[in-house]
Amino acid sequence: MALTIGVDVGGTKVAAGVVDEDGRILAQLKRGTPSTSVDRTADAIAEVVDTLRAAHSVAAVGIGAAGFIEPGGGTVRFAPNLAWRDEPLKAKVEVRVGLPTVVENDANAMAWGEYRFGAGRGEENLLGLTVGTGIGGGIVLDGRLHRGRWGIAAEIGHIQMKPHGRRCGCGNRGCWEQYGSGRALVHEARELASVWPARAGRLLQLADGRAEDIEGPEVTAAAREGDPAALECFAEVGRWLGVGMADLAAVLDPGRFIVGGGVSTAGDLLLVPTRAAYAESLTGRGHRPIADICLAELGQEAGLVGAADLARSVL
Ligand SMILES: [Zn+2]
Repeated sequence: MALTIGVDVGGTKVAAGVVDEDGRILAQLKRGTPSTSVDRTADAIAEVVDTLRAAHSVAAVGIGAAGFIEPGGGTVRFAPNLAWRDEPLKAKVEVRVGLPTVVENDANAMAWGEYRFGAGRGEENLLGLTVGTGIGGGIVLDGRLHRGRWGIAAEIGHIQMKPHGRRCGCGNRGCWEQYGSGRALVHEARELASVWPARAGRLLQLADGRAEDIEGPEVTAAAREGDPAALECFAEVGRWLGVGMADLAAVLDPGRFIVGGGVSTAGDLLLVPTRAAYAESLTGRGHRPIADICLAELGQEAGLVGAADLARSVL
């Protein structure tokens, strides 16, 4: 049985694991990465791969990284959180480790991991969403990852949902991730606490009385206690998510949406309003099946497992 290594490259750390053909992680390690130096990031990837290879016979490497990845060539055109600009990452890692290497967008790798081994099993048309600070996406159509002509498909967080809306890090205004993400959840909570402190008493209590110190975990904790203000914040974010998913269903008609990322740990606090808004916004509702909206199963390891599985394509 051939083993591969999956590597998840984030802005501050590299997580890697040896993965078998059934998606099981046999060994795993993490280390910090210097995001300002492209060569030191490649060195960090090579180091974790070499450490894992010392104890396992490995045939290929798959890397998942946030950014625009040229399909097939493994060049990172642009990575918002790393120093990569037209960076030949595949070639650099192959030279360092001497193994065939594939590079994939991290949200694509997450969607693929869930499709193969997690919440997407058995559903050949699905959309994976990573709802964290922003919104990432990966599309599986007819059992294949949909990358688009230039490898930039499924940048769903940057669909314009609100003309003249909040400014986004991508340079545009009104992007979906400004309204349906962890950042939006925090924005809602802080705004509510600022303009209506009496309503947001519990949220303020959890943040030592300072609206600007409210973060996602405080909103989730308060919502779990049943605090109406925190529940209202989740309802707002869930509503935006559901409306956006309904728009995506008009284009892609997926059978399932799989929601991962940091905010998904809130579970039904997020998914119940999301499902309601989806059903109410779907075009042709009443005359079509309603897609499942469910939580990711592989957690933080989905990208790593998906990248390792995609590496098998070169074997
Ligand atoms: Zn944007």
